[in-house]
Amino acid sequence: MANLPWEYGVGIPPRSPDLDEEVAFGRRWQALLAADHWVGITWPVELGGRGLGPTEHFVVTEELARARAPELVGRIGINLVGPTLFAHGTDEQRQRWLPPILGADNLWCQLFSEPDAGSDLASLTTRAERVEGGYRVTGRKVWTSYAQFADWGLCLARSHPDAPKRQLGMTCLVVDMHADGVEVRPLVQITGEAEFNEVFLDDVLVPDDQVVGTPGEGWTVANSTLSHERGVNPRQLGIHCQLLLGLLEMAQDSERGFCDNGMRQRLAEAYLEVKLFQLHNWRTLTRLERGEPPGPEGSTLKLYWSEMSKRVHETVLAVLGPSAGLWQGAADNPGDGMWQRSWLYYQASSIFSGTNEIQRTLVGERVLGLPRG
Ligand SMILES: Cc1cc2nc3c(=O)[nH]c(=O)nc-3n(C[C@H](O)[C@H](O)[C@H](O)COP(=O)(O)OP(=O)(O)OC[C@H]3O[C@@H](n4cnc5c(N)ncnc54)[C@H](O)[C@@H]3O)c2cc1C
Repeated sequence: MANLPWEYGVGIPPRSPDLDEEVAFGRRWQALLAADHWVGITWPVELGGRGLGPTEHFVVTEELARARAPELVGRIGINLVGPTLFAHGTDEQRQRWLPPILGADNLWCQLFSEPDAGSDLASLTTRAERVEGGYRVTGRKVWTSYAQFADWGLCLARSHPDAPKRQLGMTCLVVDMHADGVEVRPLVQITGEAEFNEVFLDDVLVPDDQVVGTPGEGWTVANSTLSHERGVNPRQLGIHCQLLLGLLEMAQDSERGFCDNGMRQRLAEAYLEVKLFQLHNWRTLTRLERGEPPGPEGSTLKLYWSEMSKRVHETVLAVLGPSAGLWQGAADNPGDGMWQRSWLYYQASSIFSGTNEIQRTLVGERVLGLPRG
């Protein structure tokens, strides 16, 4: 923790108002962690990981959050691309792409969503046309987090347009984000930052050795990526435990804190909700330790924490008081306005990784076994 430029202790890590600077710092920080094998805890030793289990991964992630370490800048590579390549990639692909993910030498993005294919991902229209030695990919992706910094993109495209069902006939391909025909246009979010982007793909050549899984079976590959996005979430648990501690500390010193009866009730609710989130995580962790996949129950966890997060953030703003909404952010003080930025950022929690309406449908149909709507 000697390598972090801010104080160890209570609260969420400060963010820089300059995204380029934040990503550059994130790369240096992740490289330091990776040098001592603190990244890729569950990855095999021969690929640079530690070869340990999900519980150890969970503990390390919790400890990093407790130390106010920033979220890993290479989290898409670590949390989504890694598990996808372990399940569907070839040995050659794992050797080629996984080690540079650990130290953030290579960053990845997820090229799934399109302007008319978000919740209904199966309706995507990006085309992958077969050519000699590979595919030519053309289409438009959107909401692609960190695409402007990415070296590689995990992309879902339609390769067999005549397939009998929409879910059939897609292929998962790895796009070189520096290739000819790739254009990235940042989109500004409610926080004022441009973390996500539009990505235009114009006749981009993807060689055969960059196809993940069987051509035409990209839907299966994409579902495995998505199950890892929703399943277990030690990082969000860590962030919200830190947020809770920060909130309780703030409430000690505030006239809108523990001395106010209504607020005391809300603070107790926030405490209980975060503890319940911890228990839900431990239940999924038990499944993983038994060698079971995260399963559709992962949707329950995503649904729960995203709604909990909004309620806890509302309580944070209530303790801060009426001036909280006036925050503009200060360029010379990265810690300034961190609660407000966090509140704004987590408004997206009920959208990313699948919206809450979609999670509810998944829970209804695949966990509770209700008839399909
Ligand atoms: C911060 C952030 C980062 C993201 N990063 C990435 C990324 O890196 N890569 C990537 O590929 N995508 C990314 N996304 C996109 C995300 O996965 C989509 O926004 C999400 O799947 C919803 O799709 P959509 O935005 O097209 O909304 P739509 O699918 O158009 O949905 C609009 C509304 O209609 C509702 N709705 C739609 N269908 C149904 C239905 N069948 N039943 C009930 N209600 C329905 C939805 O719940 C929602 O309220 C990101 C999104 C956010 C917010």
